[in-house]
Amino acid sequence: MKKQFLFLLILLTSPLFAQEPSARRIIKHINTLASDKMQGRGTGSPENAKTARYIEKHFKKYGLKPLGTDGYYQSFTAKVRRVVVPDSLRKAANVIGFLDNEAPYTIVVGAHYDHLGLGRQGSSLDSLPQGKIHNGADDNASGVAGLLELAQYFAKNGVKESYNILFMAFGAEELGLQGSRYFLNNPTLPLDKLNFMVCMDMIGRYNPERGIGIGGYGTSDTWPIVFKGAESSIKFFTDRAGNGGSDNAAFYAKQIPVLFFHTGGHPDYHRPSDDPEKIDANAEEAILKLEIKLLEKAMQQPKMTFTAVK
Ligand SMILES: [Zn+2]
Repeated sequence: MKKQFLFLLILLTSPLFAQEPSARRIIKHINTLASDKMQGRGTGSPENAKTARYIEKHFKKYGLKPLGTDGYYQSFTAKVRRVVVPDSLRKAANVIGFLDNEAPYTIVVGAHYDHLGLGRQGSSLDSLPQGKIHNGADDNASGVAGLLELAQYFAKNGVKESYNILFMAFGAEELGLQGSRYFLNNPTLPLDKLNFMVCMDMIGRYNPERGIGIGGYGTSDTWPIVFKGAESSIKFFTDRAGNGGSDNAAFYAKQIPVLFFHTGGHPDYHRPSDDPEKIDANAEEAILKLEIKLLEKAMQQPKMTFTAVK
């Protein structure tokens, strides 16, 4: 008995398991990124830049190669269009880390890290948004936590997958997918080497009645093969469309197959009340484990062919 216990202890604490997604780390990331200190991560703010550095620090720690234009960063100028503000041009950046498996093709895993700041860049649903911190715990600190957990998992699992993986944190999504579009128009790796793109935007508010929605199922004939027999401790459903919701739409427009993970809308969406205490980190952990299973299965398939969804 004692021996078995010791074996179990070694097994549980060994690095083999340390890279599995964990609710504890997920909530830690979200508490940091969606704290009032981060001032809502509005594009152009010092706190938005601080968020980018937080992501860079983790990419570095996981041993990802920088694949921006300036280390991990790909800087660009974003423009506020929905409201008239004196400072409509804002400094923005994508943060890009590459897991090099020396494979011919690459998959993209992405999530945006910007949010609405102090409600002065448009698209807040609050009646008097100006000056209120829009923490954006679900939108999209939850997706960034997912991005970091997947980066850590694939970088530390001791497996050399048959595809490379490009981990991307997009800037200026809330201003209209500007970071992902900028990358696609100025790619740091040839676009014809991309296999498919997986996007996480709002994966922290799991509703057991609805389940998590996975969009993009119709964007390649390979997805039904990938999803066949997929099981999870949480409820999920697929949706054929891939051209809406978030940065996946920019990849879809370039005829790249996509998947889009989203736990659905809620009354706190784009309001100052999208706060960390409302996040279900245990469910997010299960979502990420499902995502890993799907990605591992997808990486056993040949490079996908894009299909448009009508
Ligand atoms: Zn979002």
